[in-house]
Amino acid sequence: MHAITNSGWIEVITGSMFSGKTEELLRRMRRAEIAGQDVAAFKPAVDDRYGQAVVGSHAGREWEATVVDDAGAIHDHLDGEEVVAVDEANFFSPELVEICLDLAADDRRVVVSGLDKTFTGEPFEPVPSLLAHADYVDKLQAICVECGDPATMSQRLVDGEPAHVDDPTILVGAEESYEARCRDCHRIKAR
Ligand SMILES: [Zn+2]
Repeated sequence: MHAITNSGWIEVITGSMFSGKTEELLRRMRRAEIAGQDVAAFKPAVDDRYGQAVVGSHAGREWEATVVDDAGAIHDHLDGEEVVAVDEANFFSPELVEICLDLAADDRRVVVSGLDKTFTGEPFEPVPSLLAHADYVDKLQAICVECGDPATMSQRLVDGEPAHVDDPTILVGAEESYEARCRDCHRIKAR
């Protein structure tokens, strides 16, 4: 979908939960592999939903990935790959932005996937900064489970109820659930 050039670039795939971000990341990785390009995939240590060493989608597809504690470690694991994929970018520190810029300056194609907003609807760094630096951006929509409209919000539920506004943003693997919802159906409880 994007022109192949001799210089590097950054593409970002973002949107709410259940919008197919990781599916799209996997699709792009597969297409690069079919073209004979080497792909290195990375994910943060905090995301353990699908086991430690794969980029996995809700649809069950996956790709071997290197789990790194921080974005700075990505450089250490590269071996000349033309394509560098990063999933769950929202769980990385702001350092990820500099790393992606370095990789693009090094003539690599950098494909990043991550949530643009927290469950309260606030910008979820470092993805918003990556969106600003990106050469290509795709913002995907899910479908609102309440009304069927296009959904751009991630609804967090705790015991089936909307989460409170001051609940911590990152609670991977906790007893909670998420739904895709549109703006009108998105709910946040104030304390
Ligand atoms: Zn709705």
